[in-house]
Amino acid sequence: MNNDIIHDTWDREHLWHPYTSTIDPLPCYKVDHADKNYIYLSDGTRLIDGMSSWWCVIHGYNNKAINEAAKAQIDRMSHVMFGGLTHDPAIELGKALLEVAPRSMNNIFYADSGSVAVEVAMKMAVQYAISRSGDHNRTDFVTIRSGYHGDTWNAMSVCDPVTGMHGAFGKALPIRFFAPQPRSRFGGEWNEADFEPMKQVIEEHKDTLAAVILEPVVQGAGGMWFYHTEYLNRLRALCDKYGILLIFDEIATGFWRTGKMWATEHTDVIPDIMCIGKGLTAGYMTMSAVMTTREVADTISRGEAGVLMHGPTFMANPLACAVALASLRLLGETDMESRVAHMAEIMSRELAPAADLPTVADVRVLGSIGVVQTHEPVNVGEFQKECVRRGVWIRPFGTNVYIMPPYVTSDDDLVYLCRQLIEMLPR
Ligand code: PMP
Repeated sequence: MNNDIIHDTWDREHLWHPYTSTIDPLPCYKVDHADKNYIYLSDGTRLIDGMSSWWCVIHGYNNKAINEAAKAQIDRMSHVMFGGLTHDPAIELGKALLEVAPRSMNNIFYADSGSVAVEVAMKMAVQYAISRSGDHNRTDFVTIRSGYHGDTWNAMSVCDPVTGMHGAFGKALPIRFFAPQPRSRFGGEWNEADFEPMKQVIEEHKDTLAAVILEPVVQGAGGMWFYHTEYLNRLRALCDKYGILLIFDEIATGFWRTGKMWATEHTDVIPDIMCIGKGLTAGYMTMSAVMTTREVADTISRGEAGVLMHGPTFMANPLACAVALASLRLLGETDMESRVAHMAEIMSRELAPAADLPTVADVRVLGSIGVVQTHEPVNVGEFQKECVRRGVWIRPFGTNVYIMPPYVTSDDDLVYLCRQLIEMLPR
């Protein structure tokens, strides 16, 4: 392989990649184009995508219907400010979202990215507390360990304090409260002791907490962990008791990734505020949304400020809205429950043998997410070199070697992906 395909020299000198050193960067492979569930490198190497480009490319690359929606919209307008103006793509997408959203959702705030959605949700919670009763003391947040909510300031503050980015920013970050990660597994037995520490934190700080924020059922980038739904039932009840808002970050879990449209549908729990992103635009461009109840929205609007204090330049970008609407329609035309259940079945069967390896601590599958957790962290650079040699694309982090392929992945490709993953595991 040509060295420039492994790492373009100019790119290496001048472009920052995610969480990457400028002095000693990991290799980056140059992509020429992508189609369906395949990524084509510039030397023609074809990779079967196991990552959906970090959860978002749900229908695969270069989807005809979405391409057409983007092209049609680009000829009308790519963008127009949302202050004082509105447009059909925003309205139609909003209607389509509320049709599939949890029933309590009524108001939608379109934002730029997942992290910004989390910022907006946290701002909503603080403004809600102030507006509801003039309470300026409810500015705290509690979350669970091993969560991930994004890279902006407040989002970062509720990421796991040890494996997250707290170390790099120290006292610059606002202090949050953390409860241990629930250890009762999804689908397993519920251990009441799991909720005790969260209960204690909430009861101790019930007068200063604006909200609890967490990823429902599946923790993504903080540890790829699937936990028991009873935890969320308990949380909902306690939040209701003390007038604390419950924010669900469904940025990674939304749009059928866990086998339901939203992860919260594995439970009867309805959040007060919900963040969505990633799969929203099927990986075409960046956009997110924060949905909330009429009660939260109207209370904020009746408050001291009278408005929600946020309004990004690219809010409700028409191109992104048109693309998101096309993606939602595709989801609506497909029996997604069966599709994802089928992927889960294959992944469960194919990944199961990994559990016999002495280097493997755990194997778990939920929806179209398959995780093999190793005892020792995996060498990402070496692993990816081997991926490219074998024609697959998987990017492990720490001890998590995982896949969440696009929904258009064929059975054969899925089997191949799983088998290659196992063969590449440390022995
Ligand atoms: N929340 C969760 C659960 C996520 O997985 C991510 C992204 N990995 C984010 C928030 C942040 O989204 P973005 O990268 O679009 O800012």
